[in-house]
Amino acid sequence: MAFEPAVDCPVCETTLAPDRTLEDHLCRNHTQEELARYLVGAHDEAGQPARRAVLPSVGPGGRGGDLR
Ligand SMILES: [Zn+2]
Repeated sequence: MAFEPAVDCPVCETTLAPDRTLEDHLCRNHTQEELARYLVGAHDEAGQPARRAVLPSVGPGGRGGDLR
């Protein structure tokens, strides 16, 4: 019922389904090696700041539903 904005995975730039969290997607769709490579790559390009935050604050923490 609560509308949550779509989340894009910063690794593969896939837009996640509304009921999926980025954390869930990363765990299911990416290996630790992929994630590590992404993190290294994000910091490796000197002078080229990462296009976006590595892990944008995503989740039920703030707006909308309280899932506790
Ligand atoms: Zn992904």
